[in-house]
Amino acid sequence: MSLVVYQNYVHGQSLSNDTGETFEVINPATGEVSYLVEVADEKIQQAAIESAKTGFAIWSKMTPMERSRILLKAVTILRERNDELAVIEVQDTGKPWQEASEVDVVTGADSIEFFAGLAPSIEGNQQQVGDDFYYTRREPLGICAGIGAWNYPLQIACWKSAPALACGNVMIFKPSEETPRGALNLAEVFTQAGAPDGVFNVVQGDGRVGAWLTTHEDIAKVSFTGEVGTGKKVMAAAAGSLKQVTMELGGKSPLIIFNDADVDNAVSAAMLGNFYTQGEVCTNGTRVFVQQDIYPSFIEKLLERTQKNIVCGDPMDPATNFGALISKDHQAKVLEYIEIGKEEGAHLLTGGQALRPENAPNGFFVAPTIFTQCTDEMTLSKEEIFGPVMSVLTFTDEDEVIRRANDTRLGLAAGVFTQDITRAHRVIHQLEAGICWINAYGASPAEMPVGGYKMSGIGRENGSETLKAYTQIKAVYVGMQPLESPF
Ligand code: NAP
Repeated sequence: MSLVVYQNYVHGQSLSNDTGETFEVINPATGEVSYLVEVADEKIQQAAIESAKTGFAIWSKMTPMERSRILLKAVTILRERNDELAVIEVQDTGKPWQEASEVDVVTGADSIEFFAGLAPSIEGNQQQVGDDFYYTRREPLGICAGIGAWNYPLQIACWKSAPALACGNVMIFKPSEETPRGALNLAEVFTQAGAPDGVFNVVQGDGRVGAWLTTHEDIAKVSFTGEVGTGKKVMAAAAGSLKQVTMELGGKSPLIIFNDADVDNAVSAAMLGNFYTQGEVCTNGTRVFVQQDIYPSFIEKLLERTQKNIVCGDPMDPATNFGALISKDHQAKVLEYIEIGKEEGAHLLTGGQALRPENAPNGFFVAPTIFTQCTDEMTLSKEEIFGPVMSVLTFTDEDEVIRRANDTRLGLAAGVFTQDITRAHRVIHQLEAGICWINAYGASPAEMPVGGYKMSGIGRENGSETLKAYTQIKAVYVGMQPLESPF
């Protein structure tokens, strides 16, 4: 049977390349090639830039209210197509339908709705200087590039395009070559909603296409989501033409559980923060610090719930709550980290192996894995694994755990569980992380700015804060008197 071939999306429609070059996309739950995608060759790349210029000329001149209405229409379409779009996310990522149908499209649409609401309120100010005055305008940057990771393909495309488009910019988006359809679907939705051609183009391919976006002179900004190492390359390349950057990178986040915490809630957080989306979430609380006194009861409940409540298998089965990892390579990488953990002396409490569920025997599954007796020096506690591997560490006092939690170059997220409200805030304020939770983990509403400290990122996504990163200030001085001049 011949495979479907998807193309790039330029100027409101699919566009075929000249070279005929394609790449394969594999369904992680079956291990089979599900379709092919054409690579953005030179023709596509040039067309995407020309189209974006044309789109920008129209979109940036529309009133914010007009843009807002189009974005809100896109929100309605996304919600109407929720289930159909969620299936595609499941097929591309291997994550459970249970999650994709409730979270991926919903949170993407929420972000567009949030920024559509803010668009008409973007304003400058005016200041009197004697009889003269100046005023400021918040103007769009121009063509922005979005480069996405594979864990939340549609959501990432929404989170990047929402503030960009709301501010009057246009976007050329490159999804991960492992999950290329989410962004294509979003492009179609924007067109259906009435966005002018060229407002959101999608170019397909691997890191080389991403690298092209980071160096192109006509692109004003790059918003990147991915690994720290790739982020560094993107930033260095963007420096060549002094592009603005937003960097959403990796983490090795601490989840701190004090002895007065509600243990059941804390166990829920540890499981959500390590096993949701089979562990492929950037904000995961993979270093679980448990205060000594409650360690036995915490571990008992954690083990029981992990062994009893996780249902691994065909992600489309509504009962499945734990899916397949993105690729065979990634599965191998996660299993290698597990071997390193054992070699370095951590105690493997549960999991630790690949799984072959009956209803999806060829998928890239790794069992939910918990290591105890971990130390700060172990590789498990230092490196982002991006899979379902939890490291449990113990601590005795507050100052100690804050110091150890901060002892990393990364600073994406952090969580604290305690019933003592002063301690909760005192501790959170000292943690070097951009996304923090108290007695919660993982929630990320569109209103809340998210992004990393230290090497986990630069800039923020979501939240009204982000509008500043997609506009530039023009200051206009107005003289009301004859001009004084020594000449
Ligand atoms: P990745 O390997 O860094 O890739 C990210 C994107 O960059 C992909 O589209 C990739 O293309 C592209 N790319 C690769 N080389 C490039 C280059 N030289 N120039 C420009 N683009 C280039 O990351 P990933 O494996 O897809 O995603 C997992 C990582 O993303 C984890 O570290 C995770 O923590 C992070 N993440 C962070 C957030 C956040 O909000 N902070 C959210 C989600 C994920 P190809 O893949 O097609 O080669």
